[in-house]
Amino acid sequence: MTIAICPGSFDPITNGHLDIIIRASKLFDKLIIGVYKTPDKPLLFTTEERAELVRQSVTSLPNVEVRIFSGLTVAFAKEVNAQTIVRGLRMSADFEREFDLAMMNKKLSPDIELICLMSDLKYQFLSSSLLKEAARLGGDVTNLVPKHVAKALRKKVGSQM
Ligand code: ADP
Repeated sequence: MTIAICPGSFDPITNGHLDIIIRASKLFDKLIIGVYKTPDKPLLFTTEERAELVRQSVTSLPNVEVRIFSGLTVAFAKEVNAQTIVRGLRMSADFEREFDLAMMNKKLSPDIELICLMSDLKYQFLSSSLLKEAARLGGDVTNLVPKHVAKALRKKVGSQM
């Protein structure tokens, strides 16, 4: 059985993430989304909230599972018997960081492979951080995230005003 993980902060999940998840789910028997508990960046949603928003986004994908993890990504991959890590790659923003991460992961765990899927053209400039900024400034983000995420964003941003 081919198992892959798709790790990330998902603060919150966007249509760009979802596009990568849907495409990756067709390449493996099982895809496990790993919601990283303690990313080194300011978070808007709690870990449980981030995981729940991802869960609600993938209910129509039977071979996709959502888990929370902390520690090394390669250790999480091993724990769930995954052979592959899937990441999304946007045109300019991601390459250097993903390359560094891939080299480090390869050193730590040479048997785990990394696959990067190219971001769809319409999501090239979509990031969770820009999305949060737009939402905070009252922008309409309905085309950028699933409906339940837009609702959660409005509520969260409203409660912080
Ligand atoms: P991390 O903090 O690990 O970068 P993110 O939630 O920001 O977590 O991203 C998780 C993965 O999704 C990364 O591989 C990232 O490059 C990818 N990603 C983020 N936004 C997009 C997008 N708009 N299109 C494609 N991939 C994306």
